[in-house]
Amino acid sequence: MLRTASCSASLTTASHFFRHFPLSYSSLSSSTGALRAPGRNLRRVASPASPGRRVFLRRGLRVPSTAVRRVNRQLSRLYVRAVATQPARSYPDVGQDEAEKLGFEKVSEEFISECKSKATLFKHKKTGCEVMSVSNEDENKVFGIVLRTPPKDSTGIPHILEHSVLCGSRKYPLKEPFVELLKGSLHTFLNAFTYPDRTCYPVASTNTKDFYNLVDVYLDAVFFPKCVDDVHTFQQEGWHYELNDPSEDISYKGVVFNEMKGVYSQPDNILGRIAQQAISPDNTYGVDSGGDPKDIPNLTFEEFKDFHRKYYHPSNARIWFYGDDDPLQRLRILSEYLDMFEASPSRDTSKIEPQKLFSEPIRIVEKYPVGRDGDLKKKNMVCVNWLLSEKPLDLETQLALGFLDHLMLGTPASPLRKILLESGLGEALVSSGMSDELLQPQFSVGMKGVSEDNVQKVEELIMSTLKKLAEEGFESNAVEASMNTIEFSLRENNTGSFPRGLSLMLQSIAKWIYDMDPFEPLKYTEPLKALKARIAEEGSKAVFSPLIEQFILNNSHRVTIEMQPDPEKASQEEAEEKSILEKVKAGMTEEDLAELARATEELRLKQETPDPPEALRCVPSLNLSDIPKEPTYVPTEVGDINGVKVLRHDLFTNDIVYAEVVFDMGSLKHELLPLVPLFCQSLMEMGTKDLSFVQLNQLIGRKTGGISVYPLTSSVRGKDEPCTKIIVRGKSMAGRADDLFNLMNCLLQEVQFTDQQRFKQFVSQSIARMENRLRGSGHGVAAARMDAMLNIAGWMSEQMGGLSYLEFLRTLEKKVGEDWEGISSSLEEIRRSLLAKNGCIVNMTADGKSLTNIEKSLEKFLDLLPESPSGGLVTWDGRLPLRNEAIVIPTQVNYVGKAGNIYSTGYELDGSAYVISKHISNTWLWDRVRVSGGAYGGFCDFDSHSGVFSFLSYRDPNLLKTLDIYDGTGDFLRGLDVDQETLTKAIIGTIGDVDSYQLPDAKGYSSLMRHLLGVTDEERLRKREEILTTSLKDFKDFAEAIDVVRDNGVAVAVASAEDIDAANNARSNFFEVKKAL
Ligand SMILES: [Zn+2]
Repeated sequence: MLRTASCSASLTTASHFFRHFPLSYSSLSSSTGALRAPGRNLRRVASPASPGRRVFLRRGLRVPSTAVRRVNRQLSRLYVRAVATQPARSYPDVGQDEAEKLGFEKVSEEFISECKSKATLFKHKKTGCEVMSVSNEDENKVFGIVLRTPPKDSTGIPHILEHSVLCGSRKYPLKEPFVELLKGSLHTFLNAFTYPDRTCYPVASTNTKDFYNLVDVYLDAVFFPKCVDDVHTFQQEGWHYELNDPSEDISYKGVVFNEMKGVYSQPDNILGRIAQQAISPDNTYGVDSGGDPKDIPNLTFEEFKDFHRKYYHPSNARIWFYGDDDPLQRLRILSEYLDMFEASPSRDTSKIEPQKLFSEPIRIVEKYPVGRDGDLKKKNMVCVNWLLSEKPLDLETQLALGFLDHLMLGTPASPLRKILLESGLGEALVSSGMSDELLQPQFSVGMKGVSEDNVQKVEELIMSTLKKLAEEGFESNAVEASMNTIEFSLRENNTGSFPRGLSLMLQSIAKWIYDMDPFEPLKYTEPLKALKARIAEEGSKAVFSPLIEQFILNNSHRVTIEMQPDPEKASQEEAEEKSILEKVKAGMTEEDLAELARATEELRLKQETPDPPEALRCVPSLNLSDIPKEPTYVPTEVGDINGVKVLRHDLFTNDIVYAEVVFDMGSLKHELLPLVPLFCQSLMEMGTKDLSFVQLNQLIGRKTGGISVYPLTSSVRGKDEPCTKIIVRGKSMAGRADDLFNLMNCLLQEVQFTDQQRFKQFVSQSIARMENRLRGSGHGVAAARMDAMLNIAGWMSEQMGGLSYLEFLRTLEKKVGEDWEGISSSLEEIRRSLLAKNGCIVNMTADGKSLTNIEKSLEKFLDLLPESPSGGLVTWDGRLPLRNEAIVIPTQVNYVGKAGNIYSTGYELDGSAYVISKHISNTWLWDRVRVSGGAYGGFCDFDSHSGVFSFLSYRDPNLLKTLDIYDGTGDFLRGLDVDQETLTKAIIGTIGDVDSYQLPDAKGYSSLMRHLLGVTDEERLRKREEILTTSLKDFKDFAEAIDVVRDNGVAVAVASAEDIDAANNARSNFFEVKKAL
């Protein structure tokens, strides 16, 4: 969200890849739960986090982007976050004999107190496959199989294989079992990722039967995929020549090919890739496992098959089980697969050799594509990278480096971050921080939005600041704040919607994959204690200064990357690709061309032919009787303190209090709306009369688990007025609730809007972030734009996070210098119009005793609030004019959207709408937009509060063709013939979304959202019944409603100038064109 994005270390957001619906479009995860509003909020600003840097995901992750999430992300590199929430009990054991009988030997066994789990390492005797079996009381069970897959070139083999193995296997011979699981299981996690050196296939579920179904499909996919015998899958997921008619031009198609074109259209991603390859030029990290679009077409089917044969073997696999299921059953399932193999030498051939450290620093200058007409003055990027060590580090040193990372860069008050941003030399930091998920740890720091003359200065400032930090050490308050933040995060162990067991797996595997001890990363207590003791005894300087000196300042393995903007690069690359394809065509005979056209048609036909029912039936699925009939209810008590409504949720939270204070935007003047995100950031980062913002930030770090402030808007079904709020969210240990509320009060009432320089930084960081969003999440920008045409809440949202916001920021940047007084008093005016008891709601989640204990602190906080806001109530009524719009950016792939309001047809919300819209995404759009269209993603989203139904595509090579597919949706539904099994699957999948797994804080928050949007438990129950009884007739009836998108909808595309021109030529000026970058 807004306030966090500005200070996010973005270490981990370098690349994430959606297979299916990106974060905010997991539309149905919310629906009946009415959690649509946070989705909307995310849509505006946040980009989803991924589990690792430069990791390719098969499908988007749903990760909350709270302030603390950011901290967790950063710590996750070097800390394991695991504190059990329940007392220990004895766990079922697997005896040595039982293991032997199934072909396993028990290697070692430990009780890990950090996660209250018993962990046993087994070895499959015949193949050497290692299995970690973790038993505890967590119902959110996790399985993962991880293979070491080091590539030799940048053709993207591991990534294409990761996509392809999930396209049908021996036991599940249909086109995409993965999609069948997406449709019809209760998974709490289902995805696959490619790292630079490994490929992970994880699944999770709270339902045991469902869990084992998922495990079986994944095991069969990994070891016996159809793709090694079927060139069509390789062509579809990897690359192929497409030729519809011999008279036309040949083009490249392929899901990964287009996915990577998208990646190579984002400057931050290009920089990350160049840096990684330059820092380790001599081993497997010197190439791109994801695939460089220039190299992908060099990959042959033979090499692809060979890679699978070599590395997808039990001898090269590590398998993880976690949760409350029977550990013996795990071994039974595995032995069935592993026993079919003999040992192979793959474990030796896949070994990663360390990169030898350089004796001299190096410097690399590269170009990256920018728009032709843009301002090139402040477009350089510069980043300094170090490879820290040739040999693995001991755990205490790793912990200390993680700590150091947080001290230097973790918060806006951290010195390295602060000094760089305050220098004014650049607009924002680029991916910066420590990273230890590959064989050798590394550290990077740099800036973007730098003018050519300042590149050298940024480098010098980085070096001189590091030197200063080594010489002077850190303030003791800063050290205390970092320590508290780290300990709080360990205790809370809040992995959001990411399963805890998966988070642990990724920690463990980061060592295990290199044949190191898989238990070690799970046990942080002792080394953390030792580190704390050393800091107490010797002082923090004695601990951290030698680390900065040894690993950074005196380390000659330093790689500096400078990136320069090049307005010609995009068209050059396009011309190169065109010329290669022309040569290919020129080298073909007439027969060759006819054959290619036939093959293109054959592939298309195969893609569009549905699987036969008997093939679909073989994918295991649950029955409706396995599904609970009632929704999960969150205990909620509605009360009143001094006239303010207070919601209390009595839940076990491990002694942590979560609090949200909600203020109403009903008195805010229209023209102040776009200033709201910067107002929120100013509250967090400007300081008071007595406390500098650094001191204030340290106080928050020392005494709480984090505070954040952000706006929230949503339509409310059946009402004209939208829900428009500002939320202040915080958490602390129960004993520190008084501090939490005092600090909230301090932020809200005492922060002064007087720091012009800092405000200027906020504006330039926001511009950099919005520009990055346009390139990386153009579908979100398009969706916001359409929403802004169709409803008031959407318009407000777009003013605070869409293209309109970017335009506002660009004007504001000039105004900060000319009329700071005016801006400062506008910020004050926003505060006066929000801050009041009137219209305020408080939401609290903790155990009953804590809820009672913190009442006094809350009362005091509320007493300090003014009674009513200044200014009268305003009516929100803004909309953007309805029109088809194309937003031009420099890109190789497009984002295409179309939307309309289905309530305008008189359609009345029925639970079946969620089932139907999920089905449209998973079948019609998946098959046409992704599989045969070649886009990385195609999906739809239904906002049950506003009635807006939107279609969206992601990294899409097409434009008008995709719009035609959207328009065909009504006919698709009318022609649909689904049997009971398919229907049941769709229903179960929808329930899986509705019942998505939530940790206690998320339960309390969802309940607040439902309260704000007027969704009652009775309504949820009714919706659930409607979902469970969805019939084919509902699908047909929905077709009429959805036709409104075709007939009266608006289309918005974020696309390249060439494609927009072509579209406007083909369909006379269909789009109004808007330049953005
Ligand atoms: Zn991918």
